[in-house]
Amino acid sequence: MTERFSLVGQVVLVTGGSRGIGAAIARAAAESGAVVAVGYREDADAAASVIASIRETGKVAAAFRADVSNSAEANQLVAAVEDSFGKIDGLVNNAGIMPSSPLIETSDEEWDAVLRTDLFGPFYCSRAALPGMVQRGSGSIVMISSRLGQIGWPELAHYSASKAGLLGLTKSMAREFGPQGIRVNAVAPGFTITDMTRDIVDTESGRRRLAELPARRFPEPENVASAVLFLLSDAASMFHGQTLNPNGGGFMQ
Ligand code: NDP
Repeated sequence: MTERFSLVGQVVLVTGGSRGIGAAIARAAAESGAVVAVGYREDADAAASVIASIRETGKVAAAFRADVSNSAEANQLVAAVEDSFGKIDGLVNNAGIMPSSPLIETSDEEWDAVLRTDLFGPFYCSRAALPGMVQRGSGSIVMISSRLGQIGWPELAHYSASKAGLLGLTKSMAREFGPQGIRVNAVAPGFTITDMTRDIVDTESGRRRLAELPARRFPEPENVASAVLFLLSDAASMFHGQTLNPNGGGFMQ
């Protein structure tokens, strides 16, 4: 029974795996037996420290630098992982940015940067990884969306629009590639304590968000990783186009 939750024999690429939620996913995937490729954009030291912590446990991992908002770099990332490890069974589109600004003051550059990273990046990486998955007739892609893609948020329109777009991308890809043995699903975390959000925890907005959670505590990156691991594993073989919500109860579908 528990074998169905194992990732032994699988190669998993986690974009944005050098910090926060991505690092927790990378460590958990390795713990479940996967060979792990950790994608990062600029913080090589952070990526190296995730790799070191995985190797300390006797598991296999390597870091790969790429800006996923650039389609050529996303293609090179996927090719480099396939060259190093032979295949990609699981792709976790986790890399993301979340600058905030009032909508009327949002510049074209900021709008483009968020859409390019948070929505185009997952498309670029998925498009590059899919041919190998189609050839093998198997694969699992997990998009890291957000609760804010489900409910919207002031001063985060670009982020919310990207994360909502990811849910449409997920369902469309699930319908297009499910018949070829590939599952595509999303995880929509609620406010999770990482570099992206740490500053908000001890503010009025942070306290308000905490008070609305039935769990009465914010999720940790490991809570998000658990949902991702499930979707990557064979235990989720009947999950296609779904969204899991590790959000402490902040949004209920
Ligand atoms: P962090 O800011 O802690 O980490 C972001 C990661 O993404 C880093 O590894 C960073 O690499 C990488 N990254 C950013 N831009 C790019 C890019 N253009 N190309 C490649 N890698 C990039 O974020 P979190 O761990 O908090 O968030 C991870 C994901 O979870 C994001 O998609 C986020 O939107 C989503 N999420 C987070 C929530 C939260 O509350 N924290 C809630 C809901 C969703 P580097 O350091 O090298 O730049």
